[in-house]
Amino acid sequence: MLQLEDVHTHYGAVHALKGVSLDVKKGEIVTLIGANGAGKSTLMMTICGDPKASQGRITFQGEDITHTPTNKIMRNGLSVVPEGRRVFTGMTVEENLAMGAYFQSKDIKEQQEERVLNLFPRLKERFHQRAGTMSGGEQQMLAIGRGLMDEPELLLLDEPSLGLAPIIISQIFEIIQQLRETGTTIFLVEQNALKALAIADRGYVLEHGKLVMQDTGKNLLANEDVKKAYLGG
Ligand code: ATP
Repeated sequence: MLQLEDVHTHYGAVHALKGVSLDVKKGEIVTLIGANGAGKSTLMMTICGDPKASQGRITFQGEDITHTPTNKIMRNGLSVVPEGRRVFTGMTVEENLAMGAYFQSKDIKEQQEERVLNLFPRLKERFHQRAGTMSGGEQQMLAIGRGLMDEPELLLLDEPSLGLAPIIISQIFEIIQQLRETGTTIFLVEQNALKALAIADRGYVLEHGKLVMQDTGKNLLANEDVKKAYLGG
């Protein structure tokens, strides 16, 4: 579904991604782990075309999107939930969700809204509440819900567990699994390596802009180097 071949990304003189090749197949949960500054968010955003890859090739559903404008990539089956759950704080849950389906037909909008509210009953209860007055966990649910409104084939999630209480993190990971079961492919970037690898079919480890390991989620969890570096020994 998604393929990266030898992708490089620069921010001016900073060489943030140094030849990344990976793939995500339909129906998978694929997790990317790595330390602070390894380039995880850069990889996520490069897939979305902002920043653009300075070298290499990105294909999504068989189409080369390396040079496609971000707004076009986002309208063709790919959604991203960026780090830091950037919901529109002055808008209600309903309005935030509607923004996620801005380019969709009324039918798809209604159908996706129903799906999101079933997945997140909490959002149903808060439907008319302004996002800025909701808890961090509720805002994260809303950010994911908004990402789903566009009916994506592939959902990119950047650190969905960041700054949340353990019980909320467990709920979010539950929901990520449910999403996969209902047909959405997931590419997940996480610092919470333990939980993220536990639900992943496959995982990649990024260090200093390069992939240094790839395996099944299960094998990475059992790997001594991964344990030492990312699972607290
Ligand atoms: P974190 O887990 O802390 O979010 P990360 O793995 O997502 O880290 P990135 O945010 O992708 O890492 O950063 C990778 C490298 O690129 C870092 O050295 C960072 O300083 C640099 N970088 C990121 N964004 C920019 C930018 N807009 N301009 C210049 N350098 C940047």
